[in-house]
Amino acid sequence: MHASRPEVVYLDNNATTRVAPEVFEVMVPFLTEYYGNPSSAYSFGKKVEGYLIEAREKVAALVGATAKEIIFTSCGTESDNAAIWSTLQTTGKRHIVTTQVEHSAIMNQTEALERMGFGVTRLPVAADGTLQVEDVEKAIRDDTAIVSIMWANNETGVLFPVEEIATMVKRKRQENEAAHPDKKGKIGPYFHTDAVQTPGKIDLRGVAKSDIDFLSMSGHKLHAPKGVGVLYVKRRTKVVPYVIGGGQERGKRGGTENVASIIGLGRAAELAVERLDDEQKRVRGMRDRFEDALLARLPHIYINGNRELRLPNTSNIAFDFVEAEAILMRLDKLGICASSGSACTTGSLDPSHVLSAMGLTPARARSCVRFSFSHFNTDADIDYALEVIPPMIEELRAMSPLSPEHPDNFAYDVTAAREREEKGMAETMAAINE
Ligand code: PLP
Repeated sequence: MHASRPEVVYLDNNATTRVAPEVFEVMVPFLTEYYGNPSSAYSFGKKVEGYLIEAREKVAALVGATAKEIIFTSCGTESDNAAIWSTLQTTGKRHIVTTQVEHSAIMNQTEALERMGFGVTRLPVAADGTLQVEDVEKAIRDDTAIVSIMWANNETGVLFPVEEIATMVKRKRQENEAAHPDKKGKIGPYFHTDAVQTPGKIDLRGVAKSDIDFLSMSGHKLHAPKGVGVLYVKRRTKVVPYVIGGGQERGKRGGTENVASIIGLGRAAELAVERLDDEQKRVRGMRDRFEDALLARLPHIYINGNRELRLPNTSNIAFDFVEAEAILMRLDKLGICASSGSACTTGSLDPSHVLSAMGLTPARARSCVRFSFSHFNTDADIDYALEVIPPMIEELRAMSPLSPEHPDNFAYDVTAAREREEKGMAETMAAINE
């Protein structure tokens, strides 16, 4: 049976998501009828302010917080930059702890700060992309202002133990405050997590009860529009604005609010909670079926990242002997959207910094494609992808001089090499056990 070809099979939901129809619907009146400025004194503007308050409460509920703990920004990047900038200002300290696998929002900001003389420690990750709390603890110094560690990696979906890390960071801060009571609230270190990839995929309602001080989210990753972001700041944490202007967002972020998008984000936040179960069961099921079927059908493919400690929607696959760029071009012709690396770095010839940090060789890292699913994907999308991807990979491998499947390639017998390796290992184990 052949799966029929849909017009577009969108398997790149970590890059951006479709605006949910329910979200679009609530936004429209704020672009047409209720266009007043929420800061205006007259009732036409005040009415808009009332809706903003409601949306803020809905977004707060997504992370179990109160409305006062939510600052609306323009995107996830701004939220990330603002959290780091604020703690450098409030503590006056000059060191940041982060990882080697962060999104470019943190990566490039910390590189810019380094050029300005700040110190940055970028922690490595294990081969399965995971990170240990102890390693983070060891990197904290007396002059550390902030520890910024993403919750879920955008390329592999691997989850970091951010709540445990936040508790450890809070303990360090309390020790510092006990030693310097005059500096309470201004001494750090603080903990920030880039949680842009998590809403609707994992349950965030425990955030406000956790020790996380700052958390970033972005509208367009959870079926709200592009151009709106969120910075959650734990109550009683001091904030210095990054975007300086009017007194919007209670003086914590200048600039007239992106009203329609914020209203949309409020609805998207509600839907993210309602659809969590679907994401964790149906979407995870589709992702797993996709991976298992490809693994059964194609040799020399590998799933990157710890398969358990992972978002339910993300699949990052190495297709040995083929360049990801060639795969993506073929996928595009077949109507399938996927990506290599993050959308922000596509086009660069360098292998992904995330996969390189996990120890993949440059050749394997360049063969990796990320597929990311969402509530809007169907079984028919998966059937179609599974029908067209294996023959496409076989065809590309048959043309690749690197591949054992290339007709002229007699030199490289992967199966024989693997058998030799396994035989050697068995002999070593037998010698040890003797
Ligand atoms: N952080 C992560 C983990 C992301 O995946 C992204 C977007 O891809 C961002 C930050 C940046 O978000 P935005 O596009 O809203 O600036």
